Amino acid sequence: MLNLPHLAACLWKYSRSKSKIRLEEAFQNDIFLSMAEKSFLTHLECGWCRREYDPDRLWNLCLECGKPLLARYDLVKASLAVKTADLEKREPTLWRYRELLPLRSDRCKLSLGEGFTPLLRAFRLEEEVSHSPLFIKDESLNPTGSFKARGLSVAVSRALELGVKALSIPSAGNAACALSAYAALAGLEAHVYLPADVPRPFVNECRVLGAEVHLIDGLITDCGKVARKDLEKYGRFDVSTLKEPYRLEGKKTMGYELAEQLGWTLPDVIIYPTGGGTGLVGMWKAFSELEKLGWINSKRPRLVTVQSDGCAPMVKAFHEGREFAEPWSDARTIADGLRVPAAIGDFLILRALRESNGTAVAVSDGEILQATYLIGKNTGIWPAPEGGATLAAFLRLKSSGWIKEEESVVLFNTGSGARYAHLWNTEG
Ligand SMILES: *Cc1c(COP(=O)(O)O)cnc(C)c1O
Repeated sequence: MLNLPHLAACLWKYSRSKSKIRLEEAFQNDIFLSMAEKSFLTHLECGWCRREYDPDRLWNLCLECGKPLLARYDLVKASLAVKTADLEKREPTLWRYRELLPLRSDRCKLSLGEGFTPLLRAFRLEEEVSHSPLFIKDESLNPTGSFKARGLSVAVSRALELGVKALSIPSAGNAACALSAYAALAGLEAHVYLPADVPRPFVNECRVLGAEVHLIDGLITDCGKVARKDLEKYGRFDVSTLKEPYRLEGKKTMGYELAEQLGWTLPDVIIYPTGGGTGLVGMWKAFSELEKLGWINSKRPRLVTVQSDGCAPMVKAFHEGREFAEPWSDARTIADGLRVPAAIGDFLILRALRESNGTAVAVSDGEILQATYLIGKNTGIWPAPEGGATLAAFLRLKSSGWIKEEESVVLFNTGSGARYAHLWNTEG
């Protein structure tokens, strides 16, 4: 859609700018048309076999090889249209990176204020663990209390734009809440499939938000199997992790934000609690986009995956030098978001870890709980156990010497502790 006042403003800006692009060239290159449409999305590409797909149709996995599809943009045109200084005046949500997100029209933009979460310098925690600088990216402030809001804000917006009426998701809890919220905002049907032993607050939240809750005996992978059967029967669209291309786009904005909040530089190390891996893979994608946009240089952080030793398929595969991970049997951990025995994006996670010279660490549930309290009393953040796991991994890597003095470290607190009611000992 052509937005005329916006186009006029762009023309004015270009005619005043010292840019070397002449207006006629700009028109020939469609720059203004794309600016009016806002997204520089060009196509989808299979992350494994590279087959390309029309981005303006609904897709789940690659038809050829069954692997995840990734959104690709015209970053050259985007870099001419948007500068980092333009962002300063924009809304404090992930939609500030509008041109690098897949949505065509703002009419379908579903926003509850997701993203642009604080990056906090943890001064007292630094003293406690004798390391500086240490930052926490606090994702607990997202709508529905976790970073799942990022992915589902973008995925549900795009599904709405492409004509979807009913959505389906298998989830350990947080993704179900986020889907329920954005479906409620859009007026779409949401079907959430949760393990029967999921903490009650997750179930209650989904119900209040109007979703149809299906409780399944088993793990998230079993929820996926039941959900898949219902998909075809009832014609619902599957928004499972990495089984559609746009949750990744929402989560990649964590990488954009980190760069922006650190003055267009990146830290030395990022520690990330990995389940399906969307956040990790998304940030790695973001860094390569940011470099192509000319917004950062080529220096990259080392990425660290942390999992619980009760479910650590990525850690095992990483250290065994494998390209894919074997499914973990008898997966158990108090960190529900990490209880993911098999991830469809395993090869993308392992690639990102290796390309970044990163590593993977498994920590015990005991270490996770202890570290969660350590964050709480030294920062004022009530973290999810997944967030606690990042500090537990940090402590291991610091004592082994993998993290060196003065290296800047970012821990991701991916959610709020508030929904894990059963974990907190209230007896004092
Ligand atoms: C889903 C979830 C994770 C895992 O995220 P991925 O990006 O799928 O690896 C970590 N922490 C919390 C709180 C989650 O809800």
